Amino acid sequence: MRKIAIYGKGGIGKSTTTSNLSAALSQLGYKVMQIGCDPKADSTKNLMKGKFIPTVLDVMNEKGDDIDLKDIVFEGYNGVLCVEAGGPTPGVGCAGRGIIAAFEKLEELEAFEVYKPDIVIYDVLGDVVCGGFSMPIRNGYAKDVYIVTSGEMMSMYAASNISTAVNQFKSRGYASLKGIILNAKNVDGEVELVENLCNEINSNVFHYIPRNQIVQISENDGKTVIEKDKESEMASIYMNLARKIVSE
Ligand code: ATP
Ligand code: MG
Repeated sequence: MRKIAIYGKGGIGKSTTTSNLSAALSQLGYKVMQIGCDPKADSTKNLMKGKFIPTVLDVMNEKGDDIDLKDIVFEGYNGVLCVEAGGPTPGVGCAGRGIIAAFEKLEELEAFEVYKPDIVIYDVLGDVVCGGFSMPIRNGYAKDVYIVTSGEMMSMYAASNISTAVNQFKSRGYASLKGIILNAKNVDGEVELVENLCNEINSNVFHYIPRNQIVQISENDGKTVIEKDKESEMASIYMNLARKIVSE
């Protein structure tokens, strides 16, 4: 079982990239589980026909400790298993705690042993890599980390912080930064800006994803690009990302 974490600044395209990657991996024949680690809990919606699935935290709050895997693991597009950790009501409790509680619950219910995914992908909000948000790169959860960024200053700043966090845990755990996924916003000199960042943080541009309106058109339809139009150029870009990741 491979465990991968996809980090990046809020709104940079993590969930889009992750759900297209999951869909692409499922096309290659892998059993994938995608775990949304973001209190917004919308990571998997494009794999679930645009619907929001109940979060682990919501189900725990509602049913107490007596919950079943089928209450929190949902089968989406092409058999991709979807989980949303969820988060507390804003202003009440810490978002990161929610991720920790959800991870503990998945472990207690032996989700990986029961579903036996080939690949687990964590989609993690990376504006602040503290507490629960660092959970996927601690304690042996994810081995490979990829950071999504564009050439925008704030997303590169977040990418740099995330890379520092990964390196902090490297000495203790086994997560390592595999590379940067450049999700283009078409800012001037974008590739060069991100390549400079990679030099600074000793990483590489692992994959380039252009900006393309088919992403939003598919999203409006509650789909990944892979589901919407498998033959499109954009779908082949996500398929290539999937192939590169499995060949790592
Ligand atoms: P959040 O931190 O809020 O969870 P996120 O990083 O998961 O955000 P997404 O929700 O995946 O970001 O993407 C934000 C918006 O950008 C979405 O509307 C999505 O359709 C769009 N988007 C992402 N990548 C691309 C792309 N390559 N081309 C065009 N639109 C894109
Ligand atoms: Mg998201």
